[in-house]
Amino acid sequence: MTDEPSLPQADEESPEAVLLRALSLLLRGAGSDPLAPAAAPVPEPLLSVADAAGYLNVSTTTVRNLAIGGKLRSARIGDRIRFRRAWLDAWIDEGGGEVPAPPPPEPRAAPARAQAARPPRPARPKSPPKPKPPTCIQSVNGVELRLLSDAGRGTVYTWHAGDTRPLCGADGRWSRSLRRCPVATFCARCLTALAAMPGTDLSLFGIGHVYMLRMTTRGATPTPIRAGYHEGDGAKTLCGKREGPWALTERKPQTRECFDCDHRVRWRNRDLDSSFLVPRPMTPLCLLVDAGPLDPRVVDLAARHPGAVEVRQAAEPLPEDFSWQWARWDPAFAAATPVGSFQAPDASITGPRTHWTKWTLSDRSDVGTQFDDKFADRMEDWATTVERAYALYARWHREVAPRRAGRQRGGPGRA
Ligand SMILES: [Zn+2]
Ligand SMILES: [Zn+2]
Repeated sequence: MTDEPSLPQADEESPEAVLLRALSLLLRGAGSDPLAPAAAPVPEPLLSVADAAGYLNVSTTTVRNLAIGGKLRSARIGDRIRFRRAWLDAWIDEGGGEVPAPPPPEPRAAPARAQAARPPRPARPKSPPKPKPPTCIQSVNGVELRLLSDAGRGTVYTWHAGDTRPLCGADGRWSRSLRRCPVATFCARCLTALAAMPGTDLSLFGIGHVYMLRMTTRGATPTPIRAGYHEGDGAKTLCGKREGPWALTERKPQTRECFDCDHRVRWRNRDLDSSFLVPRPMTPLCLLVDAGPLDPRVVDLAARHPGAVEVRQAAEPLPEDFSWQWARWDPAFAAATPVGSFQAPDASITGPRTHWTKWTLSDRSDVGTQFDDKFADRMEDWATTVERAYALYARWHREVAPRRAGRQRGGPGRA
């Protein structure tokens, strides 16, 4: 096709073109090229969400979600969302897109949901875990155990544990409503039953320290061995024994305490009171012997316990009023002649020397105590107990000292 008759020429215009030009001149006014096609169109007004929804033939919610989700190009003008038709056309040409799910949070959305969507704070895990506060309720094997108090009584001295009735089977009107863990003593039978259940946590009931009696089976029923008790946390004694079964109680039993546990408690408490080691047999024994022939048993005692018994003999006979004049004891002891070779133990273990136990030995009853066989046995007992305690303290000192040093270096640590 070489000839193009429909193209408008400058010289020969068609009647339709003349009419168009006249109309254009009327509408747009003079000054602009009336025949310039749509090169500089009048800016089209932006589309609102409703306009866009109508144009796309979808709901306004869909359009708003597409825009907020960033799937559909939009512009924010203040708090309004506006679109260019060209953006919608381009989006349609590219195949459109799905509405993002879940719908983005609106400012009016529930604050709980908005908070849940927030990313976790990064600083939290770095802080050391706080000790769990007692909750008074714990779930063991699907059974909810809680503290029970006898609602029938005015004052509560004993607390039990159970779901609705105490584990020990005691009768009463049991109250389950608890606002806080009690300070009262825990029922020993419930405590023992509780500790025997695997998965229980005594600390959740505020129980941290209990007295532990080992159980023995005589006949059908296991009974606690009353010969001696230990201290501990219910699972392990302070002296390190784990093998049970144990009968637990919060009340101090009226029996002898395990030597190791007893001294372990003293060692633990010595930071609270520097003179705590005073009560015998925690300190060395100072024996001041009256002048005269020396009893061979005294010499023997000093020789066999050089770290626990310090013996000295006065050069001059002690005065009659000496025994009740303790102020004169120390200078007299210092002036006396040493018997045997006493080796003073570590002062960090024994405490101050002025607190050591002192004794005057004399054949004269008005001056001191006579050294007979009974007294010799007593001193022997004392010396061996002191030595045993020192061995324990030395061991614990070795264990505790590095931990304390580490705590001072590295800030707060585990006690
Ligand atoms: Zn009970
Ligand atoms: Zn023990």
